[in-house]
Amino acid sequence: MTTEPSPRRVIVAGDAKGAFDALVARVETVHGNPKAGPFDAVFVAGRIYDGDDAAATMEPYVTGAKSAPVPVYFIDADGEKGLEYAQSRAAAGTANESSSARGVLEIAPNVYFLSESRVYDLCGGLKVASLPGRYDVLSYEDASALGKSTAKRNGETTEDDVMSMKTSFDDMRKKDVVDVLLTRDWPAGTLDIHGREVGNEAKSASSTGSPVSRALALTLTPRYHFAASHPFFFEREPYINPKNDPSESPWVTRFINIGNCGNTDGEKWMHALKVEPGSSIDRAVLCKIPPDTGPNPYLQALGQKRRAADLQPDWRDGAKKPKAEDRGKPREIKGDPDKTIYVRNLSWKADEGAIAEYFGECGELVDVRLAMKPGGQQSRGFCHISFATAEGVQAALERNQASFFGRDITVEMSTGKPKERGPPPGVAPGGCWFCLSNEKDLHLVASIGNECFMSMDKGGLTEEHCQIVPVEHIPSFAGVPESTATEMWNYIGALRRFAESADKRLVVFERHLELRNKGGNHCHMNCVPVDADRAALAEKIFKQAAKRLDFSWTKLDPPANAVEAQTAIKAVAGDGEYYAIHLPDGAILIRTIEKGEKHWMQFGREVISHLIKAPERANWQSCMEDEDKETERATKFREAFDAFDPMKNA
Ligand SMILES: [Zn+2]
Repeated sequence: MTTEPSPRRVIVAGDAKGAFDALVARVETVHGNPKAGPFDAVFVAGRIYDGDDAAATMEPYVTGAKSAPVPVYFIDADGEKGLEYAQSRAAAGTANESSSARGVLEIAPNVYFLSESRVYDLCGGLKVASLPGRYDVLSYEDASALGKSTAKRNGETTEDDVMSMKTSFDDMRKKDVVDVLLTRDWPAGTLDIHGREVGNEAKSASSTGSPVSRALALTLTPRYHFAASHPFFFEREPYINPKNDPSESPWVTRFINIGNCGNTDGEKWMHALKVEPGSSIDRAVLCKIPPDTGPNPYLQALGQKRRAADLQPDWRDGAKKPKAEDRGKPREIKGDPDKTIYVRNLSWKADEGAIAEYFGECGELVDVRLAMKPGGQQSRGFCHISFATAEGVQAALERNQASFFGRDITVEMSTGKPKERGPPPGVAPGGCWFCLSNEKDLHLVASIGNECFMSMDKGGLTEEHCQIVPVEHIPSFAGVPESTATEMWNYIGALRRFAESADKRLVVFERHLELRNKGGNHCHMNCVPVDADRAALAEKIFKQAAKRLDFSWTKLDPPANAVEAQTAIKAVAGDGEYYAIHLPDGAILIRTIEKGEKHWMQFGREVISHLIKAPERANWQSCMEDEDKETERATKFREAFDAFDPMKNA
């Protein structure tokens, strides 16, 4: 008594805030096109309206002036107002019985909000798991009742949502399969292992993604996982899921992020899918492994990056393991010998994944080959790395004597030629990005004082993200002369007033790392005006981040002036390395950095990206703009800041 399976045709769309009409128009077109349609449903992996304007956007659909040709399901109500609107529409009670499954709120005929975190049965048999709302690190980690209700109101994911999803999943019949998982957020670690070449924006999305989306993908093992948190289309190669029980074959998951509906950047924003309910199709069909399938990226600890090629594909039938004799002999390193470096004095803990991540920051890698002891289990402490560009090599050479896994590594050309340490073209002598002699980036300078200047951040966290930099190449704020410190302090004060004039507050972070290259660190105070309501959470989020990294801050009272600030910082850090956060009220969080601690480079940037709810901006490389845009940003900032500029308003 097998039921004849028939494919459901669905469209999955990206975030449609501000573009619902465009989405419906496009659906109408493809639905009516016999080559593509008809379709059974549309899933929107994000919003369909702006919470503030929900009623205006939806009114024509409520009155029937406009209509969606097929049921449209969305998963994010855009915060408190949008949620209230959805609830009021559902309470108006127009919903017919068939569409009133638990958690499905009818907004208008054929338009539904999947309001609960659970597995739904849609289109007559498709199992669709939907996680409503967005991940916010602060809300998620606030387990208080108040925190939870605030998160719910703001449309932010809570632990309760995860529990509710798990309960719903556990309630499924054993043979049921989740066909589609919809999460607004890109899951963390999607690209911790991957095969295809991917761009920086996708890498950044992966490294700053949501741990909740990730956990659900791993638990639910959906056949498709869609997200819409990033404004570009990205399809990962399929990855294999762990077996639920040893007698069963696993199936693959395809992860896709879909661009914003109606975007003009040419990013794909609708994805058509023909899918038979996994619960009713033949197991052999369900478990067919496509040829480009790779290992599951979520099975190892978050952030442990590996290249797919390094993993044993033991899950695939007939896969060949490397022969024993192949393992002892080092393989040839790929790439140009003139763009290959040799790194030694590596900690045995540094595996190829960690090395690739660390040196990947220098430029595009072609290959990494870590020498292993016989048996292939233990590192011999040296490796070869080939880069795609000479700039990558140059940047890597500048990490000579840098501390990596607690050891000072040696980086040199693999050819044994004398080290090519001359600056690449266009970079100032010494290669210091912050020295004003680096003429290349003068267009980013927003104001010049006598002893310091203010420059827009390259690839800033926000449009107004800027840096206060002493003209002299001095490693830290604590170490600059009194007169310089005072001028820098005046700039910070001016930026505070500037931020407050726009209902924002200033968050400043400074890292003092004793870089051993480019003549050492050149002090720069990163200044980010942040919306007042989020800025109020700055202390909390930096403390949470510290907790995760297992350290605590020393909090300094707001200093009265620059010299007091310097004295207070030195009292904690001496002349050593430190990380300091200047909170909106002027108080300072400080912590010293032990020799050899790694990964402090992007710390402040990453935490603030979460504070401003834009984790995708954590990676500056993915925020880079062309020079025209940079100039435009600097000009706009200069004009707005003019009335506050301490050099003009002394
Ligand atoms: Zn410098």
